[in-house]
Amino acid sequence: MKFRHVKSNSTNTMKFGTKAIHAGVHPDPTTGAIMTPIYQTSTYVQESPGKHKGYEYARTQNPTRDALQANLAALENGRFGICYASGLGATDAILKLFKPGDEIIASSDLYGGTYRIMVRVFQEFGLKFKFVSLDDPAALEAAITANTKMVWIETPTNPLLRLVDITAIAAITQQKQIMLVVDNTFASPYLQNPLDLGADVVLHSVTKYLGGHSDTVMGAIITNDEDTAKRLTFIQNACGAVPGPQDCFLVLRGVKTLHIRMQRHCENALKVARFLADHPKVSQVNYPGLETHPQHELAKRQMRDFGGMVSFELLGDSLPEAIKVMENFNVFSLGESLGGVESLCTHPASMTHASIPKEDREKNGLKDTLIRLSVGIEDVDDLIEDLRQAIEA
Ligand SMILES: *Cc1c(COP(=O)(O)O)cnc(C)c1O
Repeated sequence: MKFRHVKSNSTNTMKFGTKAIHAGVHPDPTTGAIMTPIYQTSTYVQESPGKHKGYEYARTQNPTRDALQANLAALENGRFGICYASGLGATDAILKLFKPGDEIIASSDLYGGTYRIMVRVFQEFGLKFKFVSLDDPAALEAAITANTKMVWIETPTNPLLRLVDITAIAAITQQKQIMLVVDNTFASPYLQNPLDLGADVVLHSVTKYLGGHSDTVMGAIITNDEDTAKRLTFIQNACGAVPGPQDCFLVLRGVKTLHIRMQRHCENALKVARFLADHPKVSQVNYPGLETHPQHELAKRQMRDFGGMVSFELLGDSLPEAIKVMENFNVFSLGESLGGVESLCTHPASMTHASIPKEDREKNGLKDTLIRLSVGIEDVDDLIEDLRQAIEA
């Protein structure tokens, strides 16, 4: 099995924006093309049986995918990157590292699809799941048993934008030798690098900020642990959740502007959050960049900026009114997903989180009237005007 060690001396010392553009990418050796070609091939010609250039069959290896994997690994300060057909394809691969009877503790405020694959798919195969609110790391210690093999966290969480203290959780998992996985989709590697804070594995829905242009579905896993990387690569090849080369090309292109996009996402989201917080018809705004966010201090410590996701509730808590606001938007589009250049709004209770039972949603503080915004990189004046007219109409 071949791994590209991306922590070469050059990328090791590069700053983030330079890595986003250059890490893992080399001019094409035959033509000098500066953009990595889309190697649209299923197989590779061998000189003699077993004698080849490191590529045998495209489920196993593809040069466009290799470049992207090395690039994403560099952005997360990791040694190994593996890309998948979707974020949930990556989640599936991680869950296949475990056996019936193994216990997994996940934070209770999770992406709906992650909850669904855990409870509806892997629980059927005998994995045991506990969902625990990990705002307080002490709750983790209380939930760990001798069979706990993995802890899964998301931070900031979707859609309530709560934080989990990665360093504090990692101190516990390292001491107990339990694998810590962080879904870093909401922050992106521009805002936070969980491996540097003690996590063992980072997962991304590349579909979101990394791709950034709402044109690709993809997942990625990054780790420093060679054994975990080998097992995941084996599972990927054995189970087949690989991304196509054209998608890898699109993400390689998208990632080149990740740092610039994230700067604008953060700038716009803070202005949107402040506007909403000051609006008399808004009762609650969730954004880690607001001083009123209960974990603002942790956000300042853990993240380099506060991200592009904002969620809010209207005064009066009326579902028909919340739906009306979402129908009134002109610039924000109503749709699932996030992290693209265009602003989106979502109704978590009926869309992204519909697979979580209503009582469980409400136990976690997710009301049916919550509206989630993925603040894009349009001119922020137009976004604020759109919110104003939608709320006041
Ligand atoms: C979208 C998302 C996923 C799933 O990724 P897909 O690419 O849609 O399969 C996982 N985690 C989070 C936080 C997400 O937002």
